[in-house]
Amino acid sequence: MKIDVLGCYGNAIGEFKSTCFLIDGTTLLDAGTVTSVLKDHQLKEIKHVIVTHTHLDHIKDLVFLVDELVMMGKFTIELVSVKEILDIISNNLFNNRLWPDFTVIPSYDNAVIKLKEIILNEYTTIGNLSVKPILMTHTVYCVGYIIKNNGKGFMFTSDTGPTKAFWETAKTEKGIEFIIADVSFPNRMEELARVSGHMTLNMLIEHIDRYELNNVPFLITHIKPIFLEEIIHELSQMGRPNIRPLIQGETIHI
Ligand SMILES: [Zn+2]
Ligand SMILES: [Zn+2]
Repeated sequence: MKIDVLGCYGNAIGEFKSTCFLIDGTTLLDAGTVTSVLKDHQLKEIKHVIVTHTHLDHIKDLVFLVDELVMMGKFTIELVSVKEILDIISNNLFNNRLWPDFTVIPSYDNAVIKLKEIILNEYTTIGNLSVKPILMTHTVYCVGYIIKNNGKGFMFTSDTGPTKAFWETAKTEKGIEFIIADVSFPNRMEELARVSGHMTLNMLIEHIDRYELNNVPFLITHIKPIFLEEIIHELSQMGRPNIRPLIQGETIHI
């Protein structure tokens, strides 16, 4: 599996881009950063867009992606998530008010967006991947994912506060090469992290220790750009060699 990190920050500002991973050139995990970095020939290859939740920093480029695909001709993407999230997108985004209803454009039968509903806590095959959503703790309905290919893969918390089910799964799940985890705020802002459904490094480390995950590599994501230096400094002081920040533009192979 090849994972291109198109965006991995908790805001889209200047060069910092919001959450989006391109897997094997054909599947997006969240769609915060698509059309601003990929060329048309790369957009044509996208077959599936797996969505964690409906906050705009995770879905905003979906609207430009589907517009471009329609303009280029006959291309279709499968929009993949649990029912609750697909319903929010249909009712509040592709509703002919914020954006045209691309689930019936250019026609009902050949629509550019096909909705693919998956079930919480169950694996579903999406292209060459096995995908399992886990309900997270956030301010809106949000799922994290286990993403695997041939029994090996990674876990992604998406945006989350403390979420027992995710960490219990992480402790027992086989074939997990690394975990991408939300660390949005510095330790001094733990209260804001909790009310906004995010984590600090201290909160993450508390889970790593409690669930005995010290041998698992952690890649931290969703750092608010304004706190980047502070969080990197905190990390350097904590003596945790299994944790590093995810880097925008990097490619990870599993
Ligand atoms: Zn969010
Ligand atoms: Zn977010």
